[in-house]
Amino acid sequence: MIHIACPRIVRNLSLSTLLFMTGNQFIQAQSKGDPKLTEVWSPEPKVVTPAEKCGDAPSDAIILFNGKNLDEWELVKDTTAPADWIVKGGIITVNKASGNIQTKQKFTNYQLHIEWRIPKNITGEGQARGNSGVFLASTGPGDDGYELQVLDNYNNKTYVNGQAGSIYKQAIPLANACRKPGEWQSYDVIWTAPVFNSDGTVASPARVTVFHNGVIVQNNFELKGQTLYIGQPSYKPHGPCPIKLQAHGDKSEPISYRNIWIRPL
Ligand code: MG
Repeated sequence: MIHIACPRIVRNLSLSTLLFMTGNQFIQAQSKGDPKLTEVWSPEPKVVTPAEKCGDAPSDAIILFNGKNLDEWELVKDTTAPADWIVKGGIITVNKASGNIQTKQKFTNYQLHIEWRIPKNITGEGQARGNSGVFLASTGPGDDGYELQVLDNYNNKTYVNGQAGSIYKQAIPLANACRKPGEWQSYDVIWTAPVFNSDGTVASPARVTVFHNGVIVQNNFELKGQTLYIGQPSYKPHGPCPIKLQAHGDKSEPISYRNIWIRPL
């Protein structure tokens, strides 16, 4: 016996057709009969006006560097002091003497855009050639946190899990998309912060997707913990964190940043 759940559909089908239909066919007929059953009308996505030029900030982004000042940043080693990297000509250049800087605001999940440039006259090799980094969450002083590596690997070999586009010593980039020294490059990042249980254990690890100059280099990678220079990564619990830029101690010429914006998710 056929249980007739939708009389409106049935009106359009002959009795003989109904008698020979399988359950799946009946469900298909139902969905064919009323497309409105699968339409969703709310909540409506908020309206965001995209930038005229791809890579520039859309209407709802928080501008972390506007080309003029470092008002959104502070020194990591002394958060009461203003960030004193060099701002000139609309760009920031790393001040290796003063150390890492971080955002005054803290973030959890977000979309981030940041541009960086290795100087044309860069020298050095391996990790000592234009080394910096974007810590996607700064969990403490120094290099504590999760580092997306910045380095000149246009023509410079190093360990592959430490080259540009790597999650430092955890994830090899899917491609080497470096531009030449002297040219501006971009990172577009989608960061999903880790979640911790009340006892400090990991409820869900951090995940990251990264595009380097429009080329995907990290595809929803699940982090094993904070990125470490020495030893195996592990997690320690934390909440919302600043984003940190690295003043690396190598002797090569300092790199520059510009056009930094973020959209919390
Ligand atoms: Mg680095």
